[in-house]
Amino acid sequence: MNKDLKDMTSEELERVVVGLGQKKYLAGYLFKFIHAQGGRDLSAISTLSKAFRSQLAEQGYFISQLKVVDRLTDPDGSAKYLFELADGERIESVLLPDEDRATLCVSTQAGCPMGCAFCATAKIPFRRNLTAGEIVDQVYVAAASLVARHSSLDAQETTRHEVDGRITNIVYMGMGEPLLNYDAVLRSIRILNYSSGRNIGIRHITISTCGIAPAIRQLAREEIRPRLAISLGAPSDALRDRLMPVNRKHPIDELLGAVRTYQAGTGQRVTFEYVLIDKVNDTVNHAKLLVKLLRGLMSNVNLIEHNPFSGCGFTGSSRERIQRFADTLKGAGVETTIRFRMGRGIQAACGQLQAGYKERCDLEK
Ligand code: SF4
Repeated sequence: MNKDLKDMTSEELERVVVGLGQKKYLAGYLFKFIHAQGGRDLSAISTLSKAFRSQLAEQGYFISQLKVVDRLTDPDGSAKYLFELADGERIESVLLPDEDRATLCVSTQAGCPMGCAFCATAKIPFRRNLTAGEIVDQVYVAAASLVARHSSLDAQETTRHEVDGRITNIVYMGMGEPLLNYDAVLRSIRILNYSSGRNIGIRHITISTCGIAPAIRQLAREEIRPRLAISLGAPSDALRDRLMPVNRKHPIDELLGAVRTYQAGTGQRVTFEYVLIDKVNDTVNHAKLLVKLLRGLMSNVNLIEHNPFSGCGFTGSSRERIQRFADTLKGAGVETTIRFRMGRGIQAACGQLQAGYKERCDLEK
């Protein structure tokens, strides 16, 4: 049994507390200390008796914490955190602030087994799934650093989320495929969503998947249903097979069927992310095929310029090609947004996370 208290839902904490012969309501103090206040030291929970704190420690219970190895900031305001896990594995998270929100892109796996051709993370062999405690702690560390940043700036330079240290939005889009770590991801979402914890609204939490169709259908049956984003990358099976090996197992038809199921159960609009690679998937014909695919789906498309890395063999599409692709989608009535790259100067942009592993390829600056 994992005795990391940060990894437990509110109900699980209650079971632990009652199992130790203590009053159930004390679990609420424990949960609040760990998840609302970001408490990391069991001995510092002043709302619990010293005897109970000692009992927890004697029984092997602890509060895990990620070690921050590095924090890089980009002039565009984004920040990248490099974390070391207890077993020495490494992951990264990216904070993307703007005026009215602070979005954290969290990792769910150390390495990634999915092999998407346009993604530098795919160069890191899969190590292991993260625990829910390791996922939520990425949020707590980033939130604490927002507060710390605020204290070093004058009032005019700060934005609202920096003042209150709140991460307002979470995207499961960092290193790893979240739906391959299904249980821990769902558990972490429940923990982040609790009103007595960070109270992050479910509509502000997005799972981004490369297309694990059976897991999308499973997600549609959950009582807690976050927003869904699909990394599509190609409008045909032939091209998607080449760019995203997951497509050989779950082709586009099956994927869109699962998306329809999710949409029928949630009534939610689904976002399709489309990384634009020069002369590979960015022609007007590709855009027209994409329009056909999305017909009948409540969706919007985010176009993302590919972030090249040496050895990947691709370059990002030019602004003109991106605009032409966007115009074709918009002309056909598809809601489309061009996502300008944030964090590229610190290798924190989409598809650039490598967590400093020695297998890393040299990212182009
Ligand atoms: S895009 Fe996502 S799923 Fe694909 S290799 Fe990169 S991290 Fe893994």
